[in-house]
Amino acid sequence: MSRLQDRRGTLIKGLSYLALLYAALGWGNERYFHWVQSPWFSHYSEFIVIGIFGVYRCCAEKNAYTRRRIAVLTTVVITFWFLLPTVLPTPEPSLGYFKNHATLGRSLHLPMTLTFFLALGLVLLFGRRVVCSWACPCVGIRDTVGNAFRTQTIRTRSAWRLRHLKWILGSFYFALFVLVLTPSAATRIVVDRFFGTVSVLYFVSLFLIPVTGNRNWCRWLCPYGHIFGLLNKIGFYSIKADRDRCTSCGRCDRECDMGIPVSSLVKAEGRVKATECVGCGRCVNACSLEILQVWDVRRQLGGQSFPKPR
Ligand code: SF4
Ligand code: SF4
Ligand code: SF4
Repeated sequence: MSRLQDRRGTLIKGLSYLALLYAALGWGNERYFHWVQSPWFSHYSEFIVIGIFGVYRCCAEKNAYTRRRIAVLTTVVITFWFLLPTVLPTPEPSLGYFKNHATLGRSLHLPMTLTFFLALGLVLLFGRRVVCSWACPCVGIRDTVGNAFRTQTIRTRSAWRLRHLKWILGSFYFALFVLVLTPSAATRIVVDRFFGTVSVLYFVSLFLIPVTGNRNWCRWLCPYGHIFGLLNKIGFYSIKADRDRCTSCGRCDRECDMGIPVSSLVKAEGRVKATECVGCGRCVNACSLEILQVWDVRRQLGGQSFPKPR
Protein backbone atom coordinates (compact mmCIF):
# COMPACT_ATOMS: atom_id res chain seq x y z
CA MET A 1 0.00 0.00 0.00
CA SER A 2 1.41 3.40 -0.97
CA ARG A 3 2.12 6.10 1.56
CA LEU A 4 -0.66 8.20 0.02
CA GLN A 5 -3.17 5.39 0.54
CA ASP A 6 -1.92 5.00 4.10
CA ARG A 7 -2.48 8.65 4.83
CA ARG A 8 -5.90 8.58 3.21
CA GLY A 9 -6.88 5.56 5.30
CA THR A 10 -5.72 7.30 8.50
CA LEU A 11 -7.62 10.45 7.57
CA ILE A 12 -10.84 8.50 6.90
CA LYS A 13 -10.48 6.66 10.21
CA GLY A 14 -9.92 9.95 12.06
CA LEU A 15 -12.96 11.57 10.46
CA SER A 16 -15.03 8.45 11.06
CA TYR A 17 -14.16 8.40 14.73
CA LEU A 18 -15.02 12.11 15.07
CA ALA A 19 -18.37 11.36 13.41
CA LEU A 20 -19.02 8.49 15.84
CA LEU A 21 -18.23 10.79 18.77
CA TYR A 22 -20.49 13.49 17.35
CA ALA A 23 -23.37 11.02 17.04
CA ALA A 24 -22.89 9.55 20.51
CA LEU A 25 -22.35 12.89 22.26
CA GLY A 26 -25.28 14.45 20.38
CA TRP A 27 -27.50 11.74 21.78
CA GLY A 28 -26.03 12.17 25.29
CA ASN A 29 -26.58 15.92 25.04
CA GLU A 30 -30.23 15.49 24.15
CA ARG A 31 -31.00 12.70 26.58
CA TYR A 32 -28.95 13.48 29.70
CA PHE A 33 -26.56 16.42 29.66
CA HIS A 34 -28.34 19.29 27.82
CA TRP A 35 -25.08 21.13 27.19
CA VAL A 36 -26.30 22.73 23.95
CA GLN A 37 -29.85 23.53 22.84
CA SER A 38 -29.46 22.84 19.15
CA PRO A 39 -31.13 20.39 16.78
CA TRP A 40 -27.71 19.89 15.16
CA PHE A 41 -26.30 18.42 18.36
CA SER A 42 -29.01 16.01 19.44
CA HIS A 43 -30.55 12.65 18.63
CA TYR A 44 -30.43 13.73 14.98
CA SER A 45 -26.63 14.00 14.96
CA GLU A 46 -26.53 10.28 14.16
CA PHE A 47 -28.61 10.74 11.01
CA ILE A 48 -26.52 13.65 9.82
CA VAL A 49 -23.34 11.56 9.84
CA ILE A 50 -25.15 8.56 8.33
CA GLY A 51 -26.22 10.79 5.42
CA ILE A 52 -22.74 12.22 4.84
CA PHE A 53 -20.85 8.95 5.16
CA GLY A 54 -23.57 7.05 3.28
CA VAL A 55 -22.96 9.23 0.22
CA TYR A 56 -19.21 8.85 0.66
CA ARG A 57 -19.46 5.05 0.93
CA CYS A 58 -21.62 4.84 -2.20
CA CYS A 59 -18.96 6.78 -4.12
CA ALA A 60 -16.00 4.85 -2.67
CA GLU A 61 -17.42 1.29 -2.69
CA LYS A 62 -16.11 -0.84 -5.56
CA ASN A 63 -18.50 -3.77 -5.24
CA ALA A 64 -21.77 -3.03 -7.04
CA TYR A 65 -23.95 -5.15 -4.75
CA THR A 66 -22.55 -3.59 -1.57
CA ARG A 67 -22.86 -0.11 -3.13
CA ARG A 68 -26.53 -0.76 -3.87
CA ARG A 69 -27.08 -2.12 -0.40
CA ILE A 70 -25.47 0.90 1.30
CA ALA A 71 -27.45 3.28 -0.92
CA VAL A 72 -30.75 1.60 0.03
CA LEU A 73 -29.79 1.33 3.70
CA THR A 74 -28.85 5.01 3.91
CA THR A 75 -32.01 6.11 2.09
CA VAL A 76 -34.32 3.96 4.23
CA VAL A 77 -32.74 5.06 7.50
CA ILE A 78 -32.70 8.77 6.63
CA THR A 79 -36.24 8.71 5.21
CA PHE A 80 -38.02 6.65 7.86
CA TRP A 81 -36.05 7.64 10.94
CA PHE A 82 -35.25 11.26 10.24
CA LEU A 83 -37.16 12.98 7.43
CA LEU A 84 -40.65 11.53 7.92
CA PRO A 85 -40.73 11.87 11.74
CA THR A 86 -39.47 15.44 11.39
CA VAL A 87 -41.89 16.52 8.67
CA LEU A 88 -44.90 14.46 9.81
CA PRO A 89 -44.75 13.94 13.57
CA THR A 90 -47.57 11.59 14.55
CA PRO A 91 -49.27 11.41 17.94
CA GLU A 92 -48.99 7.93 19.32
CA PRO A 93 -51.22 6.17 21.86
CA SER A 94 -49.02 4.49 24.44
CA LEU A 95 -49.28 3.07 27.92
CA GLY A 96 -47.20 5.93 29.21
CA TYR A 97 -43.99 3.97 29.49
CA PHE A 98 -42.34 6.01 26.79
CA LYS A 99 -43.36 9.40 28.15
CA ASN A 100 -39.81 10.52 28.75
CA HIS A 101 -38.35 9.10 25.59
CA ALA A 102 -37.16 11.09 22.61
CA THR A 103 -39.75 12.53 20.22
CA LEU A 104 -38.59 10.21 17.50
CA GLY A 105 -39.28 7.11 19.62
CA ARG A 106 -42.71 8.37 20.71
CA SER A 107 -43.91 9.32 17.27
CA LEU A 108 -42.77 6.11 15.63
CA HIS A 109 -43.65 3.58 18.28
CA LEU A 110 -46.96 2.38 16.83
CA PRO A 111 -45.87 2.13 13.18
CA MET A 112 -42.61 0.58 14.34
CA THR A 113 -44.48 -2.11 16.26
CA LEU A 114 -46.46 -3.03 13.14
CA THR A 115 -43.31 -2.90 11.05
CA PHE A 116 -41.58 -5.18 13.54
CA PHE A 117 -44.09 -8.00 13.04
CA LEU A 118 -44.02 -7.53 9.27
CA ALA A 119 -40.25 -7.72 9.48
CA LEU A 120 -40.43 -11.04 11.35
CA GLY A 121 -42.36 -12.58 8.44
CA LEU A 122 -39.92 -11.23 5.89
CA VAL A 123 -36.95 -12.49 7.89
CA LEU A 124 -38.46 -15.96 7.93
CA LEU A 125 -38.71 -15.94 4.13
CA PHE A 126 -35.61 -14.02 3.11
CA GLY A 127 -33.29 -14.10 6.12
CA ARG A 128 -32.41 -11.38 8.58
CA ARG A 129 -30.67 -9.43 5.85
CA VAL A 130 -33.97 -7.66 5.06
CA VAL A 131 -33.53 -5.81 8.35
CA CYS A 132 -29.91 -6.22 9.41
CA SER A 133 -28.33 -5.37 6.06
CA TRP A 134 -30.88 -3.20 4.28
CA ALA A 135 -33.01 -1.29 6.77
CA CYS A 136 -31.92 -1.18 10.42
CA PRO A 137 -31.14 2.33 11.69
CA CYS A 138 -28.60 0.93 14.15
CA VAL A 139 -26.55 -0.59 11.38
CA GLY A 140 -26.92 2.52 9.25
CA ILE A 141 -24.12 4.20 11.17
CA ARG A 142 -22.06 1.01 11.42
CA ASP A 143 -22.03 0.25 7.69
CA THR A 144 -21.33 3.88 6.71
CA VAL A 145 -19.30 5.71 9.38
CA GLY A 146 -18.10 2.45 10.96
CA ASN A 147 -16.92 1.00 7.65
CA ALA A 148 -13.38 2.34 8.22
CA PHE A 149 -13.05 0.00 11.22
CA ARG A 150 -14.29 -3.24 9.63
CA THR A 151 -10.77 -4.65 9.69
CA GLN A 152 -10.71 -4.32 13.48
CA THR A 153 -13.39 -7.02 13.85
CA ILE A 154 -12.22 -9.38 16.59
CA ARG A 155 -12.18 -12.96 15.27
CA THR A 156 -10.93 -14.92 18.27
CA ARG A 157 -12.77 -17.96 19.61
CA SER A 158 -13.76 -16.10 22.76
CA ALA A 159 -15.18 -13.21 20.70
CA TRP A 160 -17.28 -15.74 18.79
CA ARG A 161 -18.54 -17.25 22.06
CA LEU A 162 -19.59 -13.82 23.30
CA ARG A 163 -22.40 -13.87 20.72
CA HIS A 164 -24.55 -15.57 23.37
CA LEU A 165 -24.49 -12.39 25.45
CA LYS A 166 -27.36 -10.99 23.41
CA TRP A 167 -29.66 -13.53 25.04
CA ILE A 168 -29.43 -11.52 28.26
CA LEU A 169 -30.94 -8.34 26.81
CA GLY A 170 -33.16 -10.45 24.53
CA SER A 171 -34.68 -12.32 27.49
CA PHE A 172 -35.35 -9.05 29.31
CA TYR A 173 -37.01 -7.79 26.18
CA PHE A 174 -39.46 -10.70 26.23
CA ALA A 175 -40.09 -10.14 29.93
CA LEU A 176 -41.11 -6.57 29.13
CA PHE A 177 -44.17 -7.81 27.26
CA VAL A 178 -45.41 -9.27 30.55
CA LEU A 179 -44.58 -6.10 32.45
CA VAL A 180 -46.36 -3.90 29.92
CA LEU A 181 -49.51 -5.94 30.51
CA THR A 182 -49.33 -5.30 34.25
CA PRO A 183 -48.66 -1.55 34.47
CA SER A 184 -47.73 -0.12 37.84
CA ALA A 185 -45.23 2.36 39.24
CA ALA A 186 -42.75 -0.45 39.85
CA THR A 187 -43.01 -2.02 36.39
CA ARG A 188 -42.69 1.41 34.85
CA ILE A 189 -39.37 1.92 36.63
CA VAL A 190 -38.15 -1.49 35.38
CA VAL A 191 -39.17 -0.73 31.78
CA ASP A 192 -37.57 2.72 31.86
CA ARG A 193 -34.37 1.33 33.39
CA PHE A 194 -34.24 -1.41 30.76
CA PHE A 195 -34.52 1.03 27.86
CA GLY A 196 -32.10 3.38 29.61
CA THR A 197 -29.53 0.57 29.94
CA VAL A 198 -29.99 -0.53 26.33
CA SER A 199 -29.53 3.07 25.12
CA VAL A 200 -26.38 3.63 27.15
CA LEU A 201 -24.86 0.29 26.04
CA TYR A 202 -25.73 1.10 22.43
CA PHE A 203 -23.96 4.44 22.46
CA VAL A 204 -20.97 3.10 24.42
CA SER A 205 -20.65 0.50 21.65
CA LEU A 206 -20.23 3.35 19.16
CA PHE A 207 -17.16 4.60 21.08
CA LEU A 208 -15.69 1.09 21.00
CA ILE A 209 -16.03 0.48 17.24
CA PRO A 210 -12.35 1.35 16.54
CA VAL A 211 -11.21 -1.54 18.79
CA THR A 212 -13.95 -4.12 18.25
CA GLY A 213 -15.03 -3.62 14.62
CA ASN A 214 -18.17 -1.95 13.31
CA ARG A 215 -20.75 -4.64 14.12
CA ASN A 216 -20.03 -4.95 17.86
CA TRP A 217 -23.60 -4.19 18.89
CA CYS A 218 -25.12 -6.61 16.36
CA ARG A 219 -22.70 -9.40 17.29
CA TRP A 220 -22.96 -9.31 21.04
CA LEU A 221 -25.81 -7.25 22.42
CA CYS A 222 -28.72 -6.37 20.13
CA PRO A 223 -31.92 -7.63 21.80
CA TYR A 224 -33.60 -7.97 18.40
CA GLY A 225 -30.65 -9.85 16.97
CA HIS A 226 -31.48 -13.11 18.68
CA ILE A 227 -35.11 -13.03 17.50
CA PHE A 228 -34.04 -12.41 13.92
CA GLY A 229 -31.29 -15.00 14.37
CA LEU A 230 -33.76 -17.68 15.43
CA LEU A 231 -35.90 -16.96 12.36
CA ASN A 232 -32.74 -17.13 10.25
CA LYS A 233 -32.11 -20.57 11.66
CA ILE A 234 -35.60 -22.01 11.09
CA GLY A 235 -36.46 -20.03 7.96
CA PHE A 236 -35.60 -20.39 4.28
CA TYR A 237 -32.37 -18.39 4.27
CA SER A 238 -28.86 -19.82 4.15
CA ILE A 239 -25.58 -19.52 2.29
CA LYS A 240 -24.95 -22.79 0.50
CA ALA A 241 -21.49 -23.93 -0.48
CA ASP A 242 -19.76 -26.50 -2.59
CA ARG A 243 -17.63 -27.65 0.32
CA ASP A 244 -15.48 -30.07 -1.65
CA ARG A 245 -14.01 -27.19 -3.64
CA CYS A 246 -13.29 -25.03 -0.59
CA THR A 247 -9.54 -24.56 -0.08
CA SER A 248 -9.96 -23.06 3.40
CA CYS A 249 -8.18 -19.92 2.19
CA GLY A 250 -10.05 -17.91 4.85
CA ARG A 251 -10.92 -14.92 2.67
CA CYS A 252 -14.59 -15.27 3.55
CA ASP A 253 -13.74 -15.29 7.28
CA ARG A 254 -11.81 -12.05 6.99
CA GLU A 255 -14.70 -10.30 5.21
CA CYS A 256 -17.41 -11.15 7.73
CA ASP A 257 -18.15 -8.20 10.00
CA MET A 258 -20.14 -10.51 12.30
CA GLY A 259 -17.01 -12.56 12.97
CA ILE A 260 -18.63 -15.78 11.74
CA PRO A 261 -16.09 -18.57 11.06
CA VAL A 262 -17.50 -19.00 7.55
CA SER A 263 -14.89 -21.40 6.18
CA SER A 264 -15.21 -23.73 9.19
CA LEU A 265 -18.99 -23.87 8.76
CA VAL A 266 -18.61 -24.49 5.05
CA LYS A 267 -16.27 -27.41 5.70
CA ALA A 268 -18.38 -28.82 8.52
CA GLU A 269 -21.90 -28.36 7.16
CA GLY A 270 -21.62 -27.37 3.51
CA ARG A 271 -23.50 -24.16 4.23
CA VAL A 272 -23.69 -21.17 6.55
CA LYS A 273 -26.94 -21.22 8.49
CA ALA A 274 -25.83 -19.22 11.49
CA THR A 275 -28.13 -17.14 13.65
CA GLU A 276 -25.56 -14.34 13.32
CA CYS A 277 -25.50 -14.16 9.51
CA VAL A 278 -26.89 -10.77 8.49
CA GLY A 279 -26.78 -11.64 4.80
CA CYS A 280 -24.49 -8.80 3.75
CA GLY A 281 -23.09 -10.98 0.95
CA ARG A 282 -19.48 -9.95 1.62
CA CYS A 283 -18.28 -13.56 2.03
CA VAL A 284 -19.97 -14.55 -1.25
CA ASN A 285 -18.14 -11.75 -3.04
CA ALA A 286 -14.85 -12.56 -1.35
CA CYS A 287 -14.71 -16.18 -2.52
CA SER A 288 -12.67 -16.15 -5.70
CA LEU A 289 -13.75 -19.75 -6.44
CA GLU A 290 -17.40 -18.60 -6.37
CA ILE A 291 -18.53 -21.58 -4.35
CA LEU A 292 -20.85 -19.64 -2.03
CA GLN A 293 -24.44 -18.85 -2.98
CA VAL A 294 -27.23 -17.04 -1.15
CA TRP A 295 -30.45 -19.05 -0.90
CA ASP A 296 -33.84 -17.85 0.30
CA VAL A 297 -37.48 -18.74 -0.21
CA ARG A 298 -37.33 -17.93 -3.95
CA ARG A 299 -34.58 -20.42 -4.60
CA GLN A 300 -35.83 -23.01 -2.12
CA LEU A 301 -39.15 -23.13 -3.96
CA GLY A 302 -37.37 -23.45 -7.28
CA GLY A 303 -38.09 -19.97 -8.56
CA GLN A 304 -35.79 -17.10 -9.39
CA SER A 305 -32.55 -17.29 -7.42
CA PHE A 306 -31.25 -14.44 -5.37
CA PRO A 307 -29.26 -12.15 -7.66
CA LYS A 308 -25.56 -12.79 -7.35
CA PRO A 309 -24.15 -10.14 -5.01
CA ARG A 310 -21.61 -8.60 -7.37
S1 SF4 B 1 -28.56 -7.08 14.92
FE1 SF4 B 1 -29.90 -5.51 15.77
S2 SF4 B 1 -28.77 -3.58 15.55
FE2 SF4 B 1 -27.79 -5.09 14.24
S3 SF4 B 1 -28.73 -4.76 12.28
FE3 SF4 B 1 -29.89 -6.41 13.26
S4 SF4 B 1 -31.58 -5.39 14.31
FE4 SF4 B 1 -30.08 -3.82 13.77
S1 SF4 C 1 -13.25 -17.89 0.37
FE1 SF4 C 1 -14.19 -19.68 -0.67
S2 SF4 C 1 -12.50 -21.12 -0.88
FE2 SF4 C 1 -11.83 -19.60 0.62
S3 SF4 C 1 -12.37 -20.51 2.60
FE3 SF4 C 1 -14.07 -19.23 1.96
S4 SF4 C 1 -15.50 -20.61 0.91
FE4 SF4 C 1 -13.53 -21.65 1.04
S1 SF4 D 1 -21.54 -15.07 6.72
FE1 SF4 D 1 -21.33 -13.84 4.85
S2 SF4 D 1 -23.35 -12.98 4.44
FE2 SF4 D 1 -23.32 -13.73 6.56
S3 SF4 D 1 -22.77 -11.93 7.77
FE3 SF4 D 1 -20.87 -13.01 7.32
S4 SF4 D 1 -20.08 -12.08 5.44
FE4 SF4 D 1 -22.24 -11.44 5.66
